[in-house]
Parts: sequence; structure tokens; C-alpha cells
Amino acid sequence: MGDGGILLAGGAGRRMDNGAKEKILLPINGKPVFQYSLEAFSASGLFDEIVIVYREDLQKNALEKVTESMDMDEMPDLNWVQGGKERMHSVWNGLQKFEAQPELVFIHDCARPAIGNKLLIQLATAARKHGAASAAHRIADTIKRVAAEETYDQTHQLEDIQRKYLWGMETPQVFRYSEICKGYKIAMDKQIQVTDDTAALSLAGQKVSLVESRLPNPKLTTSRDLPFLEFLLMENPPCE
Ligand code: C5P
Repeated sequence: MGDGGILLAGGAGRRMDNGAKEKILLPINGKPVFQYSLEAFSASGLFDEIVIVYREDLQKNALEKVTESMDMDEMPDLNWVQGGKERMHSVWNGLQKFEAQPELVFIHDCARPAIGNKLLIQLATAARKHGAASAAHRIADTIKRVAAEETYDQTHQLEDIQRKYLWGMETPQVFRYSEICKGYKIAMDKQIQVTDDTAALSLAGQKVSLVESRLPNPKLTTSRDLPFLEFLLMENPPCE
């Protein structure tokens, strides 16, 4: 049995600062951001079924046009579902939409277009072995914790956090379908805010393995991220 994928495109892109409402559809080297993730997922051969989470009908039409324009030999079955208010609600809707419950589900933010086959295969291997796996990178900066939310005109007692223990979480994140559903059910029932899927899994008492991304896998958040992504995706898509 193949795996399942959830591609998240249901966000409003509020942090994009160049007037582009629809960051998932912005062209990078002539190709929409969304298309990179769908191509990488399809080309991996891992998936029977991919659920695409959209924001509203107009956007769904535009995303459908992208899928129709793609020249892939074998495309997994695509199902569509509308997202929710926050990312966690979009994931929850996506989890309900599989025709056949997969053993493993890959959850991915389409705002991260620089994923390649090698990373997907490494994640699949790690998730089959450990039950859950997330793409992640080591933190290069020195990170400090402040006690109160940021205000500039004040001093802080800065708490040090040892860098060797810090990882930046990325997507894809991969889980046993039944376990991630358990975690998200707890989050939904108790209205616990989670900003990534490993946090939902933790609510079900499960651990996660980390797969270090050897190539940068940045998220398109503001227009400042565009030139770097254009550079990374010149290889189109990265083969590693
Ligand atoms: O807003 P941010 O870039 O952190 O969103 C991460 C991913 O989650 C994006 O791919 C976005 O489309 C998706 N998302 C979603 N539904 C939401 C919010 C975000 O599918 N309500």
C-alpha cells in the first residue's frame, strides 16, 4: 500500500509584503510555488493519494489549473478539501479526506517548494523505522529566550539555550496515520494550539525522529525569501 500526502495551500499569506495575496501561486523561475511540491511528491512514487488543502473556491480553481498543466507520467489520486482558520484546522480537514486510510501520511507546507526526492525517501525510511519523522535543520544562530513578549525599550534577563539541542522544524513531517489522527483529535477537542504536526503527535505521547535537510528548505514567508528560492530552484527541482 502506498503512502498518503497532505499538501497545505490553505493559508492567507498575510506576511507577504509585496501585495501578493497568493504566495502559493507566485511564479518562481516561471513555475508556481505550489507546483514544486506536487511534482516532488508525485515523482517520488511513494504516494497513492494526495489531499490538497485549499483556502477558497477561486484559489482551488487556480490550483486545479496548475495540476492540469502538469506533464507527469504518473500522478497519484488527488483529493481536494477546504482548509480551516488556522493551519491545524487545515491539517485536520486534510486527515479526514483520504479515500483509503494510508499507513503513513506526509504533511507538507506548499510554502516550502525546495524539497527533493532524496529528502522524501529519507523521511519515509525514518518514519517506517521510528513511527514518525520530520525534516529539520540545525540552528546556526545563538538563540536566547526572553521572559516577556518583545518590547524594544526595555532590558531583558536573557536565558541561554544550548545550541547543540536546537533544531528548526521544517516540513515534510511524516507519521503513522492513526497516531497523528489521535494527536490532532486531542488538540481539536481540548483546543490546544499547535503550529506544527510534531506538536500534535506529542499530545498523543509519541516521539519523533529528525532527518537533517542537507539542502536548504526555506519557507516562502515574505518577499525577501523569493530571490533565495529562485536561486535554489534553478536546478528545478533539486535532485538531492
Ligand atoms: O502561514 P504559513 O506560511 O506559516 O503556513 C504554512 C503552510 O500552511 C502554508 O503552506 C499554508 O498555505 C498552510 N496553511 C493552511 N491553512 C491555514 C494556514 C496555513 O493550509 N489556515
